Amino acid sequence: DAELDGPFFRRWLAAAAAAVDREADRLTELDSAIGDADHGANLRRGFAAVTDVLEKEEPAVPGAVLMLAGRQLISTVGGASGPLYGTLLRRTGKDFGDAETVTRQRLAEALAAGVAAVAQLGGAQAGDKTMLDALLPAVDGLGESFAAARDAAAEGALATVPLQARKGRASYLGERSIGHEDPGAASSALLIAALAETAEK
Ligand code: ADP
Ligand code: MG
Ligand code: MG
Repeated sequence: DAELDGPFFRRWLAAAAAAVDREADRLTELDSAIGDADHGANLRRGFAAVTDVLEKEEPAVPGAVLMLAGRQLISTVGGASGPLYGTLLRRTGKDFGDAETVTRQRLAEALAAGVAAVAQLGGAQAGDKTMLDALLPAVDGLGESFAAARDAAAEGALATVPLQARKGRASYLGERSIGHEDPGAASSALLIAALAETAEK
């Protein structure tokens, strides 16, 4: 298994920022159906700030990269997704300690801890029609391969369409949330696709 170093994680987050920028309109459209139409703008602002701070500070090890990025998301994204994604990255990074490199298996373990922290912070679980419905299958897939993680996250995001939202703004719509893809699950699928793309380069 390849050793993933600090620069790898910086490349992942740069690829994630590019994907969010490219897909911001689609994310906002999804959020306009069952939320307040700001998810694309929220993440675009947050990930642009992440890219800036990583370029400026160039943290060396994987844990430091993810913790700095998570802190930046929390301080720049006003919506629910800022603290949730910020917690995901910070908790994942914390799990790495000061390791110079990590394997995909270690990343899968650390990401599982990060996703558990998201579930705890938001009080959500699988099937509540949130980002967790893409992130939980992604963690399982990552145990197998980056491509499996990407495919599982994409499937998980699409599988939110028939669900009724039980957490976040979309839950205020009750049954009217049914029939729409959850914006946070869609953005999580983008982040995992960026990870796979970075690993395959
Ligand atoms: P806001 O809803 O504050 O405008 P965003 O639009 O940026 O924030 O993000 C909305 C997304 O955040 C939702 O689509 C959902 O995936 C995720 N989300 C919201 N609340 C929760 C929660 N309690 N647990 C997990 N994810 C959540
Ligand atoms: Mg919103
Ligand atoms: Mg909002």
